[in-house]
Order: sequence, then C-alpha cells, then structure tokens
Amino acid sequence: NQSLAAGDPAIAALIGKELERQQTHLELIASENFASRAVMEAQGSVLTNKYAEGLPHKRYYGGCEHVDAIEELAIERARQLFGAAWANVQPHSGAQANFAVFLALLQPGDTILGMDLSHGGHLTHGSPVNVSGKWFKAVHYGVDPETQQLNFASIRQLALEHRPKLIVCGYSAYPRTIDFEAFRAIADEVGAYLLADMAHIAGLVAAGVHPNPVPVCDVVTTTTHKTLRGPRGGLILCRDAEFAKPFDKAVFPGSQGGPLEHVIAAKAVAFGEALQPAFRTYSQQVVANAQALAARIQERGIAVVSGGTDNHLVLLDLRSIGMTGKVADLLVSDVHITANKNTVPFDPQSPFVTSGLRLGTAACTTRGFDEAAFREVADVIADRLLNPEDAAIEAACRQRVAQLCQRFPLYAAERELQHA
Ligand code: PLP
Repeated sequence: NQSLAAGDPAIAALIGKELERQQTHLELIASENFASRAVMEAQGSVLTNKYAEGLPHKRYYGGCEHVDAIEELAIERARQLFGAAWANVQPHSGAQANFAVFLALLQPGDTILGMDLSHGGHLTHGSPVNVSGKWFKAVHYGVDPETQQLNFASIRQLALEHRPKLIVCGYSAYPRTIDFEAFRAIADEVGAYLLADMAHIAGLVAAGVHPNPVPVCDVVTTTTHKTLRGPRGGLILCRDAEFAKPFDKAVFPGSQGGPLEHVIAAKAVAFGEALQPAFRTYSQQVVANAQALAARIQERGIAVVSGGTDNHLVLLDLRSIGMTGKVADLLVSDVHITANKNTVPFDPQSPFVTSGLRLGTAACTTRGFDEAAFREVADVIADRLLNPEDAAIEAACRQRVAQLCQRFPLYAAERELQHA
C-alpha cells in the first residue's frame, strides 16, 4: 500500500505544483477559500470507502455505525451554526442542493423568479442552460439601474405579474446585504415559497455579520466551501422540520446515490471551526478587508458596482477605465493574482468578454491579510490595470505579490510534508 508519491508520482507532482501555486499567488476568486488542515485530513480519510445510502440509523447498508455518528454530528453542528430545526448535509454541491429543493417543491412547467445571471444570479436560478431554466418557466429580476442594488418595488411587480411558485434570493456576484424580510413579504403576498441560496455569504451568516435567512425563508441552500471555509459541498437547512421532510427524499433517492461520508466528516469539522469565536473575528475581518479594498480601488479611479460592499465581494466596473473583464483578468494573472472576469449589471459585453472583474477577500483573509495588506492588493491591481503596457510596473507588481505571499504564509506544514 504505497504513498501517493511512490504509487503515482505524476499526480503527486501535480498536487505539489498546485500547492505551490496556491502559496505563491494571490487568491481573489470570491467563491474560493483555504480549508484547514483538519478539514483536508477528514476528507482524505478511509471514509471514502463507505457506502451509506439513506440517513443516519436508516441506511441501506451495514457497517454504518461510525458514519452515522459522523453524519449526526455534522447535522447537529449545521443546525446549531445557523439556528435551523433541520439540516441535510448530503448534497454533493451547491447545484445539487438547489436541484433537490426544486425537485421537492416544484413540478415541470412551474414558474420560478430568480436574479438574472448577468446581474449576479447563479446558473441554477433559472438560466436557460441549466435544468432550472429548461424544466421551469424562469422569470428574472435584476438590480436597479441607478443604485445597482435590489429594488423591491420592481421585484414585487414581477412577482405580482408572474405569480411564481418559488422565489430565489441569494447570489454569486452581489456585494450588498440581502434583505430577506423584504423577500418574505413579497413571497407571502403572491403565495410563493422562498428559497435563499446563501452559498457566497454562508460564513458571514454563521458568524453573525450578515442577516440569517434561516428564520425567514422556507428553505435555505448553501455551498460549504466559500466564506464558510469547509470542503467543496452542499447543505440544505430549514427552520421547520416538518416542512423539510420532502427535501431528504429529494436528495436521496431523488437526485443522488451514496453520500460522500468523507466530505460530510470534513463538513462537520468545518462547522465545528465556524462555531468557534475565532471564526467571527475572521468573518469580520473578511468584510473589513473587502471594504478597504473597495475604498482604495475607487480612490485609484476604478469604479465598483453599487459604490462599495457590505460583504466579502467587490465587483470592479471596468467601463470606468475603458477596459474589458477579459483583458483585466489576463493582466492581473500575469502578476500572479487570481480573479475572474464577470458581467456587471446591464453589461454591454458578452459573458465571454464582460466589463467586470470579481474579487473576494475570504481566501487571503484566511492567510492573515488585514486592511493594510488589502490596500496594497488594491494598489497592485490598480497599478497593473492603469499601466497595462509598462513592463517595469508589471515586474514590480509581481514582486509586490511575492512579498505579500511571503509575509502571509499558507500551508507551511503541507510544504514540509511535500518535501519530506
Ligand atoms: N449557488 C450560488 C449562489 C453559487 O455562487 C454557487 C457557486 O458558485 C452555487 C450555487 C453552486 O455551487 P457548486 O459549484 O458547489 O455546485
């Protein structure tokens, strides 16, 4: 039974390169983070060998006593973290969690109302290329052209006009606080279910630095790997355990087979970490860092969507400097900054080109970056984007990124293991 390095040197070497990339680049993708060593250990464990279809103590396989205990802990911690009466920790991803909710609550042909993808919604909220847009009649709201924020009068108008069976709130590229109560009022007025997909902000919700959708919405989905800093995966939460019963069935056998108990163990570890006081401090720092980043970027003459941020995310509006997202993405990646091009509301460019660059502070805050470090990040980005042809500035930016990475080391122990 060989180690990975001995048994498969090709894969081991590539994992080593990926570790080095994460250590030497600035990770600003808003949906990413760095899971703890404990989370990764749980995920890389013997639990990957176990079949456990069903729920704890109601399995279709023998030998489940230990995975039962693990899954129960994951459920209990998730409930505690978000004040939920019920949780299902089995969805393999955020998209799977959303699909299970749709399967439980909707029939093909029903109407759903969600945010337009190009305004910050997610593919699974009714995009024509996703099952949510193929099987359901998807109607979309956007942000207000003036404020670039949610406009509840216009969302209510759309709801009254289309009478959706389900309203989706929660986004992939929205930098402002979500008023779940305002959505609740609209859902109640038109008799719709209300789903919050808090994938991006779940860590902030867990830490109490963003309002919690669980008490207000009928059902809440999330990923576990973004601001929540767990393994890649999904989670469904409900304030009402009776209402939640169909969701268990919609996950298994409705849309999945055997649960990934190694990932569920890693989710339990991450939820345990998020219950600690240090996670609240971390999440407050995530927001303070995003605000420092947004303020400095604007001082340098680059606009940000909605004029600032309340969460972990900053969306640069590159129309302010006559640049596309595609070009900006390439320019920052030349200096070892990883981000992604993103549409801005009412974007004149195609989704492959875009006018935006989406930045997030969750990952670098895990490395220990503070506001001063994020002001330096903003200056590096601005220097690069405002001087795209200047090779000396490009070299200096790369050097400044290297200095930041050295100042805030990542996975130092993992590096020692790699080189052992
Ligand atoms: N929902 C939202 C709001 C997201 O931003 C994402 C991922 O980016 C998802 C769902 C999908 O999560 P996954 O990639 O785990 O399927």
